[in-house]
Amino acid sequence: MTMKTMHVGLDDTDSTRRGCTTYIAALLVEKLQGLGAEFIDYPNLIRLNPNVPWKTRGNGALCIRIKYNENIEEKIKETVISTVEEHADLEFRGTDPGIAFFKKAKIPREVEVFAKNAITGIVSLKDALKLLKKFKAEAVGFKKGRGIIGGLAAVGEALQNDHTYEVLAYRVPENYGSKRRVDEASIFEMDKATAPYTFNNVDLEKGRIIITPRGPDPILFGIRGETPEIVKKAFEMVKPLEPVERWVVFRTNQGTDAHLKRVEKLSQIKPYHPLVAKGIVSANPKIIPRRHVVFSIRDESGQVDCAAYEPTGVLRNFARKLIIGDCAEVYGGVRRPSQNNPLTINLEKIRLLRLAPKIVYRNPICPKCGKRLKSMGRNKGFRCEKCGSRYTNLRKVEVKIKREIGRGLHITSTRSQRHLTKPFRRYGMEKHRIMTKGLIEDWHFP
Ligand code: ZN
Repeated sequence: MTMKTMHVGLDDTDSTRRGCTTYIAALLVEKLQGLGAEFIDYPNLIRLNPNVPWKTRGNGALCIRIKYNENIEEKIKETVISTVEEHADLEFRGTDPGIAFFKKAKIPREVEVFAKNAITGIVSLKDALKLLKKFKAEAVGFKKGRGIIGGLAAVGEALQNDHTYEVLAYRVPENYGSKRRVDEASIFEMDKATAPYTFNNVDLEKGRIIITPRGPDPILFGIRGETPEIVKKAFEMVKPLEPVERWVVFRTNQGTDAHLKRVEKLSQIKPYHPLVAKGIVSANPKIIPRRHVVFSIRDESGQVDCAAYEPTGVLRNFARKLIIGDCAEVYGGVRRPSQNNPLTINLEKIRLLRLAPKIVYRNPICPKCGKRLKSMGRNKGFRCEKCGSRYTNLRKVEVKIKREIGRGLHITSTRSQRHLTKPFRRYGMEKHRIMTKGLIEDWHFP
């Protein structure tokens, strides 16, 4: 009897009308434990590039990493396949589940690179299948099997650098689709008690809770934080007003900005690739229909439009105060180019590095009586309304106006942050070393 290691990646089992791949992972935690498998990590919830055009919802893939006795390997695979088959929304067009069974203890470098590319850019099913073959891994695809891409990407992202945790609590199936019932006051209290080690619990601007999703999926609520202990503690402080069927602590790349890749030049920007880029504001912000704000930045290689949409709230309000000449770093996803719009960055953050002086030109003061002069028309000089003097040789004077904004980082409002966006609360909390201690005692139920 030999102990073996396997990484089981899953993706694309849900649809806009039901399901959630994290729920299938939560079911598998219970089932695989029942079979005698040992978990070598919390289930990993890996958010992939949020800007790919064909994603279902949050674009989250899952990986379960286990050690097990060789003789239950077939049983494990059967259990995973039948659970996906039973719970995936297979009738939904565009839901193409995939499973990857990866049986190497150490993740090969090439699979890690594949995962990074799936998080920051675009990868193909062909690339995934090639890697699976090379490393003698197995994959099961349903329908078009696109989920194999995310499944393998989840396997390859072992979260060796910055990562966070999320405890997810699930509803009983009878309640799917109905309004979620959780005591709101307990959530505000939990946020206060666990800050700054949990994040994105509440939107303080609007005074709203944001741990409960909307929609028909099985999640009742999710709490994100820095350690398994803190999300567990936070979970215990929240009072659900409906039954919780099960809960699991996940380890994840949420809240880490893992999707953003720095580009050196604006000419390197590619559609669908989230990025960080630096440039000088080259067109003043304008407000376009539906209250979105658009401005442009340039560098020596090119120019790109940047859009802060209405739901980005505080970020939009900040963006509209930028002026030509400001130097800024922009963070965001690149939208599909269309005929009228070349490349546009959908902003998630702006870091204002340098402010341009804001200058206005005013009429000069009357040298005789001190009253501000009136213009007699372009290049025609000025006259004084008070003393009647006329001056043809005076010019307008430069006046420097105080800017309403300052240097520094500005992030989209909490309610419009993407799963991957690193919120303010996490700055300075980044983890740079792999976690080596074992799992906490109770990280799932049942
Ligand atoms: Zn005068």
